[in-house]
Amino acid sequence: MSKPIISFVSQLAEHEQLTWLQLLSAKLPNESIKFDKDLTQAEKRQCEIAIVADPAPENLSLYPQLKWVQSLWAGVDSLVTQLTKDNQAPSFALSRLVDPILAQTMSEAVLTWVLYLHRDMPKYLQQQKAAQWQQHSYFLPQGRTVGILGLGKLGKVSAVRLSNNGFNVLGWSQSSKTIEGVQCYSGNDELIAMVKQSHILVCLLPLTETTYQLINRDLIKQLPKGASIINFARGGIIANDDLIKNLDEDHLEHAILDVFEQEPLDKSNPLWSHEKITVLPHISAPTHLESAGEIVANNIRRYRKSNKIPVCINWRKGY
Ligand code: NAP
Repeated sequence: MSKPIISFVSQLAEHEQLTWLQLLSAKLPNESIKFDKDLTQAEKRQCEIAIVADPAPENLSLYPQLKWVQSLWAGVDSLVTQLTKDNQAPSFALSRLVDPILAQTMSEAVLTWVLYLHRDMPKYLQQQKAAQWQQHSYFLPQGRTVGILGLGKLGKVSAVRLSNNGFNVLGWSQSSKTIEGVQCYSGNDELIAMVKQSHILVCLLPLTETTYQLINRDLIKQLPKGASIINFARGGIIANDDLIKNLDEDHLEHAILDVFEQEPLDKSNPLWSHEKITVLPHISAPTHLESAGEIVANNIRRYRKSNKIPVCINWRKGY
């Protein structure tokens, strides 16, 4: 009997696509995983599963039997936006990468950059450039409140890691949560109460219609004077003009940005040269190939065995 066909739909560089194809094919010897461009119309008609990494969404409409699409990425906001742009949910389910190793990697980045801010690294960097010897007061981490926007797979692990490192941690999500060592807030009504206390605000929300430019002038004004922002989620969640204005007016002390609406960030973008902004090239939580491959392979094995599709994107919520 011939093996079932899985389509691999991606716009990644050819060598990256090949690496994924080889990895997944080795883990799934009972499946025939092929590039979308190499499939005949007849083969496309048979596919129930597609694996995607930055796909052209229109290509997915060429698979009439598609039941579910497994993304190799944790963030699928751009794909969701494009697939639902006519206000109609696609007929297939979409699952994103949920990987505990990714959550650990993100929590490491969150801890690293929170410590960077906590120990006044941006100030000392500027002082060194000016050969300026000036000591700033030291605060215990217990005296530093970190607010995390988003208590999902990445936010929760990051919150706990910060709490274990002595910080006073607050978190905000859509639905209410209980997390040991973290004071949890939820819903629009409780957002400001959390933000008002946050010396460092970390964004780990998905980009949706509701979170688009959530961090804007009004929200930033609620942060205590001298607060800093870390955005490791998506560029569209911050209104950059409002951010820059509040940095220039000294309401905010520093911003660490790993994600931007346009990536790579254009060389001419003023964010690069702003002395109160640290620009990172989307590196806070890179996908771990081996671990992600194993998770995706397990999802597919489970589906073949029991027809179970992993937890999927809620098309209405957008995440
Ligand atoms: P997730 O598990 O879906 O969690 C999302 C969290 O945000 C949940 O706690 C959710 O609340 C909350 N949320 C969503 N919309 C909200 C709203 N309108 N108001 C309040 N809370 C809201 O996502 P994740 O796996 O943690 O990932 C978060 C994001 O990180 C991804 O979407 C992606 O964009 C980004 N990311 C970045 C990198 C990088 O390298 N920079 C790597 C991976 C991922 P509920 O829990 O109540 O649903």
